[in-house]
Amino acid sequence: MEREQYLAAIKPRMPEKRYIHTIGVMETAIDLAQKYGEDVKKAEIAAILHDIAKYEDIEWMENIVRDENLDPQLIGWGSELLHGPVGAYIAQSEFGITDDELLNAIRFHTTGRVGMSRLEKIIFVADMIEPNRQFDGVERLRKKAQKNLDKAMSACVRHTLAFLIDTKQPIYPLSIECYNDTMNRED
Ligand code: GDP
Ligand code: FE
Ligand code: FE
Ligand code: FE
Repeated sequence: MEREQYLAAIKPRMPEKRYIHTIGVMETAIDLAQKYGEDVKKAEIAAILHDIAKYEDIEWMENIVRDENLDPQLIGWGSELLHGPVGAYIAQSEFGITDDELLNAIRFHTTGRVGMSRLEKIIFVADMIEPNRQFDGVERLRKKAQKNLDKAMSACVRHTLAFLIDTKQPIYPLSIECYNDTMNRED
């Protein structure tokens, strides 16, 4: 499938704002893929599909976790922690994507994990710094992403965890493991 077909397929599954975010992630991910020598086509497809499950019904997603034997730990954390793993499931089952690296980039785009591939880091970082994102410190993250992917990844994970702590939200184990794995990569 070509870019326009993927875009046409995801558009009706999300509000306009999320579609615009997705285009931003796609453009940012392509830029980072070119910069860091990653497969540009894979980055493009992973970015387009990364939030495909964002508006799926939570009961339906929890059933997918059970029926498809996804990590049972995902149950009870709410839809934000489900939309990555279920998004990877949709990419595979509806779009016929079989490339594990591409599926993992979708699967772990919210939490990260230990030992992320370059493509996973590109999608994680692009999701956070795409041009429509506006939060204190985003410009610093954008600059870091242009200089060093691992340092940008580290800074992005730290920003997410700090936000979760500030807003008194529970932190999913993979997110903490990812933080520990990446934290020493910064200056
Ligand atoms: P988005 O789908 O483009 O909005 O971005 P993400 O998929 O990266 O994140 C979705 C939401 O999940 C954000 O509000 C994050 O703060 C939240 N999130 C990320 N990691 C965790 C975690 O460990 N625990 C909880 N409770 N929420 C998280
Ligand atoms: Fe997401
Ligand atoms: Fe993210
Ligand atoms: Fe996103």
